[in-house]
Amino acid sequence: MRKTIKSRAAIEGIGLHKGRPAGVTFLPAEGPTGIRFISPLFKEPLPARLDKVAGTIRGTNLSDGINTIYTVEHLLSAAAGLGIDDLDIELRGEEPPAADGSALPFATALLKAGMREKPEQERRILDLSGRLEMTKGGTRYLAQPAKTGVFFKLTYGHDHPLVGQQTIEFALTPEEYLVRVAPARTFGFSHEIEALKASGLALGGSLDNAIVIAEKEILAKGGLRFVDEFARHKLLDLIGDLALAGLALKNVYIEAERPGHAGNVNFAKLLLEEANGKP
Ligand SMILES: [Zn+2]
Repeated sequence: MRKTIKSRAAIEGIGLHKGRPAGVTFLPAEGPTGIRFISPLFKEPLPARLDKVAGTIRGTNLSDGINTIYTVEHLLSAAAGLGIDDLDIELRGEEPPAADGSALPFATALLKAGMREKPEQERRILDLSGRLEMTKGGTRYLAQPAKTGVFFKLTYGHDHPLVGQQTIEFALTPEEYLVRVAPARTFGFSHEIEALKASGLALGGSLDNAIVIAEKEILAKGGLRFVDEFARHKLLDLIGDLALAGLALKNVYIEAERPGHAGNVNFAKLLLEEANGKP
């Protein structure tokens, strides 16, 4: 059965890329409509679906051909991590608020709104019959059937000595997602940040909503939340990007090595093709 939320919940803040005031309101969705963005600027709701992905640089962006929504993956991750299938997200401004750089504020707001099951509506489940693997450049993805549950193994590495290689193994349930994945914050390397700002991105970025990895130190407000916070954030992103396939994960094992948004989206397309190929 599909799941939505019981009541509405709102979050305000500033947008990561444009740095201007931004807000979202989560609204219950009556139909099996998936996750959609709505705004007075849009003619019709913009579904968070693979065919609407317009860019994967520094985040996953959606577009209806006229309007672009930046950095949707943290919102989507919160919804998918909590097992929500249908949700309308009303947008104020051009992008969701950056919040604290993690998915926790979104997940907390969704939980506060309460969960509502819709017994009359069926979920579309990713039902794998065998192994699916995708390798490109230094990235590798694998999905295969598993006994009971949804399992992830993700490896992230960087040659920066303060990052090194981190691996996270995770069995997805809403409770575990909330504690082990949702709080992991986004991060950037200090040498990239000036270039991003010069190109008009990350204008709202600060230590309030990101971890900055400098040459000799890691700048994180309140310190790192996990020793492997980078790998956990990559997992948060992966869960958000996979949600674009509109498939509920069940009894599956997913592995990702050095994943990024472009690879995540391509892998989600592969999973959806597999699901579409089934009678
Ligand atoms: Zn992210």
